[in-house]
Amino acid sequence: MAKLVYIIVDGMGDLPINALNHKTPLEYAYKPNISLLLSHAAYGYPSVLGKLAPQSDAGVLADLGYDPVKYSTGRGWFECLGLGMQPKDGELSLRVNFGQVAGGNLVSVRTFLSADELKILEEEINSKVAMPVSFRFKSGEGYRGGLILAPAKKALSQYVSNNEPGYKVKFYKNGSKLSFATGVKIKKVEKIKAIRKEATYTANLLNLFIRKAIEVIKKSEVYKKRLNNKLPPPNYLFLRDAAVKDPALPDITKNFGKSWGAVVGMPLEKGIAMASGMRVISVQEKADLQEDLNNKGERTLSAMKMFDCVYLHIKQADSAAHLGKYSEKYAIIEAIDKFVISKLSRALDVRAGDTLVLTCDHSTSSELKRHINSNIPVLIINKKFGQNRDFGEAGCKANHLSELKKATDIMSFVMRLL
Ligand SMILES: [Zn+2]
Repeated sequence: MAKLVYIIVDGMGDLPINALNHKTPLEYAYKPNISLLLSHAAYGYPSVLGKLAPQSDAGVLADLGYDPVKYSTGRGWFECLGLGMQPKDGELSLRVNFGQVAGGNLVSVRTFLSADELKILEEEINSKVAMPVSFRFKSGEGYRGGLILAPAKKALSQYVSNNEPGYKVKFYKNGSKLSFATGVKIKKVEKIKAIRKEATYTANLLNLFIRKAIEVIKKSEVYKKRLNNKLPPPNYLFLRDAAVKDPALPDITKNFGKSWGAVVGMPLEKGIAMASGMRVISVQEKADLQEDLNNKGERTLSAMKMFDCVYLHIKQADSAAHLGKYSEKYAIIEAIDKFVISKLSRALDVRAGDTLVLTCDHSTSSELKRHINSNIPVLIINKKFGQNRDFGEAGCKANHLSELKKATDIMSFVMRLL
């Protein structure tokens, strides 16, 4: 039976950069293994969410065939699910960032902490923060975490703002919820606000949690040690994308009649894979790029033996772009070609019908250091297609399959190839 490997590289798309001869990092990257596969290649250049700049939740959902506007109940659900926190309907699930403020102004929404520091803060927050409702907090990777509040006497509401200034919430008539990178540089850190009256109680609870958690953090050894060692101490929590409902994604295996495995390390992507009914092959995100990609490549090869389709998520390209490091971004794409695509191209039998998809959840501009609303480059390797060239944004824009208008079209199109 023909196999599919579907790779989503976080934030791979970008804009042309003068210092890269007016090429994007993807166009500029030396990618000999991808080039070899282009003898049977077609391109797509779909939009993810029209004029809005998507977050990864919307992008990954769309790439996997789920219309985010129809299904998303808030990113917090997937984050908490992926962290192993087992969110339930009626509970309020949120994504959390450890960050920094000074004099009420934003310094950073990402204060990177070690795994040990995160564990200590997680334990202290869970044991020392006293709230009128029960809650559970779990740390994730780097500066990330998840928070779940359980309802007590009153229902909890999703109609609250984010206090993470980069992302503005949008509610849809059907009750769906997404948030978008605004691109507006907001300095003043604001409290969480109720967007509907019914959410006043929830907003108050969240602001109380933030205040009490900050008190606990500031008294912790982690905070003091970092001050002593002249490392930035986390002194604020940024919460976003509160969800109160299971998004109830239709099972991907039933949708298309194929078994799916997911090689994923980040909580959000893990959560989306779990919610879609994929079997998750959990991988540790490793700090060393080569080690990380080699590991993910190997895990994908073994997953191919067990499943018809394998979804592989690769994070680093987005992180480099957020930091404005375009040279690092193209080097990451080169490393993906060298350590992941090389392995997969040996294992995939394109002549026998095996298929490879390489795309991203959204574009992240390395110059603007944020997500943008550009269409995304999509590469599809399948025996039905002929020779193609110049895989990258311009190549995809110039020569793409007209069927792929939206990112949600990719999955059904690819499934028809198998
Ligand atoms: Zn991003």
